[in-house]
Amino acid sequence: MGTFSDAVTAAGYGQIIPPLLEDIGVFHRVGEATDVVTKEMYDFVDKGDRHIALRPEQTASVCRAFVQHGPTTPWKVWYAGPNFRYERPQRGRFRQFDQVGVEVLGVEDPYLDIEVICLAWNFFAQLGLQQVALHINSLGEPSDRERYMQALQEYFSANLETLSAASQVTLAKNPLRVLDSKRPEDQELISGAPRISDFYSPQAKAHFDTVQEGLSELGIAFVINEKLVRGLDYYRHTTFEFVGGTLESAQNALGGGGRYDGLVEALGGPSTAGVGFAIGLDRTLLACDDEGVFAPTPEDVSVFVVDITGGKEAMLITQGLRSAGVSADRAFEGRSIKSQMKLADRSGATVAIIIGPDEVAAATAVIRPLRSDREQYIVSRKDLLPSITKELS
Ligand code: AMP
Repeated sequence: MGTFSDAVTAAGYGQIIPPLLEDIGVFHRVGEATDVVTKEMYDFVDKGDRHIALRPEQTASVCRAFVQHGPTTPWKVWYAGPNFRYERPQRGRFRQFDQVGVEVLGVEDPYLDIEVICLAWNFFAQLGLQQVALHINSLGEPSDRERYMQALQEYFSANLETLSAASQVTLAKNPLRVLDSKRPEDQELISGAPRISDFYSPQAKAHFDTVQEGLSELGIAFVINEKLVRGLDYYRHTTFEFVGGTLESAQNALGGGGRYDGLVEALGGPSTAGVGFAIGLDRTLLACDDEGVFAPTPEDVSVFVVDITGGKEAMLITQGLRSAGVSADRAFEGRSIKSQMKLADRSGATVAIIIGPDEVAAATAVIRPLRSDREQYIVSRKDLLPSITKELS
């Protein structure tokens, strides 16, 4: 989480904390045709007769907040936290799971699609994951998508007898989602289906070309996956997914996102472009385990305070250092000096400050350099901060 927040904060994104509970209408308006909304939501009626849902995802809440508060655009935000979906729990699929993500509202530029893809890509790279593949696709403009859906409808309807019963039901609701079918009996028919790339308008093609060229120039490898469609009407242009190499195929998506230029409007706001992604942290950590890479350990502190008089001096000095902007840590529970020095070493601190009864009586402190051969020395307590600042410079 820290790795993610550092990266997105450095890119100009501000944190938003969407609520865990929303009026169920927020999600209904966003995804009435999806399983996430129709089958997997935890919902209840509260004491005031309001129909409430535990959030299954956070994009809808971010767009609801945008409509409600009308911030200036571009509005670049990031979030982190749990979501809830009523699913059959298995490895990589849980009823409560954590996501981190970003959303940007108010910008149509394809270079923004590249920016958000890069943020996710760099996050996986920073964790040390090597086996993450980027899949991208474009759904074109709304009218391209409309013509494509019609072509799919005609194609699947003409071959109805070879389509699985479940996919026939899906076809009646949304022909795009038939392409998501993992059923073996559907695969041959799907592989012969019309391709979205044959339906792009010149503008849609130019947008997608810019995204591909930009990713190539940045050295980010990708594959075009024309089956990467999102069933909902407000998705357009770029869609993308990060696929983990070590996870089972039904749960191998570590994260995904895309453009949803019609979503704010669906929630009652003005026509506003949007793009974003969500990354599943639970699956990302499973992938880290599988690849034998682990989330970075906490950053080293600069100073470790060793107090063998009970702990109060460590409290005063640690708080004083932190207020002055110096990172510092200490031990608790009155440990022996030997044990505290071990912790000091493990903390990665550059120097230790040691306080015993003699130092308290004389209003002094011992400074011991931990990463050089220099001897420890005594300073007066009032000179402690300048001496430490000098040690660390
Ligand atoms: P989605 O919001 O469905 O596009 O999912 C985005 C990411 O969240 C996925 O790629 C997964 O990594 C993660 N995710 C979604 N549903 C679950 C779940 N039930 N359990 C664990 N992770 C999930």
